Amino acid sequence: MKSNLDECKRCGLCCLNTEMLLSKNEITVIIDKFPYKITQKEFSTRLNETLYQLINIDGHCFFYDIELGTCEIYDFRPQGCEFYPFIYNQEKQMCEFDSECPNINLFNQDDNKKEILCIKLRKFLREQLKVQIT
Ligand code: SF4
Repeated sequence: MKSNLDECKRCGLCCLNTEMLLSKNEITVIIDKFPYKITQKEFSTRLNETLYQLINIDGHCFFYDIELGTCEIYDFRPQGCEFYPFIYNQEKQMCEFDSECPNINLFNQDDNKKEILCIKLRKFLREQLKVQIT
C-alpha cells in the first residue's frame, strides 16, 4: 500500500541546512550500518540528555552526497527524515506538511491520513526523541 511519503521525488532540498533531530538509538544504528568507520561527533551534535541533531557540512547534511544527490544512509536514515515533509510545528502545536518542500502538492493531504500520520509522528517524538509535546 502506498503511503503519503511514497510520493517523494527525492529532490534533496530537505537535506540542505538540515535541522533533523535524531535519537541515541538512531545514532547507534547509523554507526553500526555505515560501511565505513564513523564516530557520533562526526555527524551529530548533542542538544540535551536524549536529543541529537544531524550536522551540516558545507550547507548540507553530513550524509547528503551533493554530487549524486542522494542520502548515503537512505535505508537506515533517521525516522524524522522518513516522516519529512510531514513535521510537527511546535509553535502551532500541530502536525503539518512543511511549506518549504517544493513538491508539497504531490503528497496526499487527505485529512484522515494526515490524522493517522500525526498520531505516529507525535508518538515517535514523545517516546523516542523524548520531546515534550502536547
Ligand atoms: S540523513 Fe539522509 S535523508 Fe536525512 S537529512 Fe541527511 S541526507 Fe537527508
